[in-house]
Amino acid sequence: MSDHLYKKGENVSEQTGIPPKNPQVYEVSIQKLIHPEEFQCNECGALISASDTTEDVYKIEKLIIKDNVLYGLVIRCNQCYSTIRLIDFNIRNKEMD
Ligand SMILES: [Zn+2]
Repeated sequence: MSDHLYKKGENVSEQTGIPPKNPQVYEVSIQKLIHPEEFQCNECGALISASDTTEDVYKIEKLIIKDNVLYGLVIRCNQCYSTIRLIDFNIRNKEMD
């Protein structure tokens, strides 16, 4: 709904006076995370925790659906404005067998 507020390239640090870092876009495979519910932003080290529902640290921008199955999430870090594509959700099942 508010996607347009976060257009890439927007100067996001007017209030702090600190030059904005270049927002990065990177991909993280959930298979490689030891604690998939809680990992750190590659760029700024912010803790992205599934139990954090405040959207202070990060925001889930959209779900990635492949073949009607949840494949991943697009997450935006609210600290450094990087975009993190958390992927490979659907491969998880092999561990549950
Ligand atoms: Zn970050």
